[in-house]
Amino acid sequence: NQTTAQQAESLEDWEVNALRDHELHSSKYFRLLESRRKLPVSLRRQEFLDTYHNSQIILVSGETGSGKTTQIPQFILFDEWASGKKVACTQPRRLATTAVATRTAAELDVPLGEEVGYSVRFERKSSKLTRLKYMTDGLLLSEASKDRDFSAYSCVILDEAHERTLNTDLLMALLKMATSRRSCLKVVIMSATLNIEKIQSYFPGAATFEIPGKVHPVEIHYLSDSTPRYCYCAISVVQHIHQNMDEGDIMLFLPTSGDIEMVCSILRKKYKNLTVLPLYSALSRAKQQEIFDDSEYRKCIVATNVAETSITIDGIVYVVDSGLEIRPVYNPRLRMSSVLTCPISKASAKQRAGRAGRTQPGICFRLYTEETHNTCFIPSAPPGILEGELASQILLLKVMGFQSVGTFDFIDPPHPEVYLCGLQDLCAMGYIDDEGTITSKGRIAARLPVHPKWLNAFMEGQKNGCLREMIDLAAISSTQHPIFSRPPPARFAADIAHRRFACPLSDHMSQLNALHAYESAMKTDKRLSISQWCFDSFLNRRALGEVVRIRDQLLASLQQELAYTKEICGFEDAEYDAHIRKTLARSFFYQCALKHPHSHATIYKTVHEGHTAGIHPESVLSREKQEWIVYSEFVSSGIPYLQTVTAVDPAWLIDLDFFQDDSLPKTADGGFKQPLVKKSLDKARKKKDEEEDLISFEELE
Ligand code: ADP
Ligand code: MG
Repeated sequence: NQTTAQQAESLEDWEVNALRDHELHSSKYFRLLESRRKLPVSLRRQEFLDTYHNSQIILVSGETGSGKTTQIPQFILFDEWASGKKVACTQPRRLATTAVATRTAAELDVPLGEEVGYSVRFERKSSKLTRLKYMTDGLLLSEASKDRDFSAYSCVILDEAHERTLNTDLLMALLKMATSRRSCLKVVIMSATLNIEKIQSYFPGAATFEIPGKVHPVEIHYLSDSTPRYCYCAISVVQHIHQNMDEGDIMLFLPTSGDIEMVCSILRKKYKNLTVLPLYSALSRAKQQEIFDDSEYRKCIVATNVAETSITIDGIVYVVDSGLEIRPVYNPRLRMSSVLTCPISKASAKQRAGRAGRTQPGICFRLYTEETHNTCFIPSAPPGILEGELASQILLLKVMGFQSVGTFDFIDPPHPEVYLCGLQDLCAMGYIDDEGTITSKGRIAARLPVHPKWLNAFMEGQKNGCLREMIDLAAISSTQHPIFSRPPPARFAADIAHRRFACPLSDHMSQLNALHAYESAMKTDKRLSISQWCFDSFLNRRALGEVVRIRDQLLASLQQELAYTKEICGFEDAEYDAHIRKTLARSFFYQCALKHPHSHATIYKTVHEGHTAGIHPESVLSREKQEWIVYSEFVSSGIPYLQTVTAVDPAWLIDLDFFQDDSLPKTADGGFKQPLVKKSLDKARKKKDEEEDLISFEELE
């Protein structure tokens, strides 16, 4: 039952929708069909199908905008319709996943969530009818942990493979194995025309299919002197284009959402005849969709690197490239993650420039010198597996039965130090034993929809009567964006507004207070005024809505895993705070820090690694002098900071294995690496013994 391009196209030309019985196609459908047929990939539909029919693994490469993401899944859907199974298409980013699913549903003239759906973490729009599912690579990976054969799918498409995210890399390895077990499973790996040699050599027998791109020449201009004030430089370049150059839309690449909002507001004030549109992941769905709308005036889209390859906007003639992006960086020795503004790679610079030449010759203005480009930019960004923390991925592979992850067939193996550090963390959490075998606790942790480290907090919370609060905190830590909003121009006002949620000993408690206040406001206020309430309280409404959604899903999945019962320690309980702080201490004990006693400023040292850091200035504890704290993140933005911290009592920690004398890090000569830690723990032990003596003495009387 192989189809030909001609058959498929005549089905598409019908008045009725072949996918939905007897429904007539809308007029918009035919309008979209006409433009789709002109895409480079549509002109080669038959050649694609021939390749697809003759091989199990196909590597597709083509310029951005040639129609890979929107068209190839449709070609396959028509071809595989009779199989009754689904087609999956993965994306590294949530924003792109929902955008292309929306577009493809419109092109097929079906309601989003029916024949075409999407699934991103904590948000799903799909149903029993869904036959083409766009999803993030992370979500398919977690499906794979339950079904290594991908048996719900007739074909899995991994898109944007050139980005080499950690999840896509793992999926490539798992799919390579699955194809040898299931001969009817097809795998299509799609990428822009960069960095593909590595992937080709990983799949030696795979067929390749290249889409010849129609690219127009792009004239490149560099600055003659470099500037640190890239935002202002960008504004003046946009101004120059808008006032002096022929029509055509502008795309401006900037690193952070803060830069983007600032530049947008300045440009909007200056020009009434320019449609200025921001594009970054934290924007609401509706705002994101606006970039595709037609506009009366010249459009200027100000974007992060999401617009580099995954999202194509027609009509761009001018590109302004700041040459910067933000990149998450993980340092295993410090167990520190940071988000740094870094120069992009040469490959990214080429991609960005290419956005200008899609429909006609274009111009790219690079806000850096030619010398910077040639000498400072690396050829291409390193794969994600070399950049991030690996604990949860190692656990996932273990739960799938790969005992020695060290010998797993990775395209690029992780750095041994990152790998070892992941193993140590899993061992400290009790998810693997000393031999590296996954424990029963580890199995449950791997199935959680949040980071596995939270399972310990849930179990400890259950003991202390604050499971509900731990679930709330896990949900808060899993949103992409902070719930407290601090817009730069109103920082001061925001800090004052946030005071009413502040708990003097704990940022975690302050977050909980904000969430609980939001929930009671939801109950009492009408829908309309809740936005006002959030606005006045400087809380991010979208993030809070997401927290509630995540929390409800977590509750549902915990009911199965943990036999979650609803006993809650009430707000009235005098020990409410202490229960929560104790639970945090006992579940995140490996992220403890001790105050340096002789410092003027509040300087802490992490207990296990012995690294020095301050407390983040936004923390309620930034001016406090608490001896012991647990922290959620160790971040750096030039200065290392502990972020989201809670004061804890060392008495809560002293019985844990992690703090026994033989576990504390030692120097070469056998002494303690951090004598202060040892001293403070001993003091706490002594105090506890004395208290116990006192109690037994009282009991005697
Ligand atoms: P590729 O994956 O090869 O980069 P796409 O399939 O994403 O190409 O894009 C093909 C065409 O579809 C482009 O011309 C683009 O403008 C259009 N397109 C893609 N997504 C959307 C969308 N959400 N809204 C409007 N047009 C879109
Ligand atoms: Mg694409």
